[in-house]
Parts: sequence; C-alpha cells; structure tokens
Amino acid sequence: MKTQVNAVLRDEAARYRLRFTCEHCAHFVPERAACAHGYPVAAHHALDLAVLEVFEFCKEFELV
Ligand code: SF4
Repeated sequence: MKTQVNAVLRDEAARYRLRFTCEHCAHFVPERAACAHGYPVAAHHALDLAVLEVFEFCKEFELV
C-alpha cells in the first residue's frame, strides 16, 4: 500500500516512534536481509522518511 509522506507523517512517526519497515517485522530474517515469506524487501527495508515522498507499506508487516 503506497502512502504519501508529508510533514505530519514525519512528525508523528518520530513522536510516536512508529515502526513499519522490514527490520522491525517479525518475518524479517536479518542474517539474509530477506523476508521469510519470500517477498521482496527493497521497498520496505531501511526507509528514511526524511528523504522519501512516498513509501510502500507491506500488508504482511507484523511488529516484533
Ligand atoms: S512481511 Fe513485509 S514487512 Fe515483513 S519482512 Fe516481509 S516484506 Fe518485510
């Protein structure tokens, strides 16, 4: 799901310490930097909201 990144989202993500990327997902396998479900991680891994205008949220994301 693509989400527009704006100043409100950046502020709330920082203030509430929102987690939404692969490295904070229960299905991420750090040793392989891969998804245990076999999904490509490039669009969801190590994202920096400070420089993004849009990011792709993974619907399989499950907080660790
Ligand atoms: S389920 Fe989605 S968010 Fe979780 S590791 Fe796989 S690709 Fe990343």
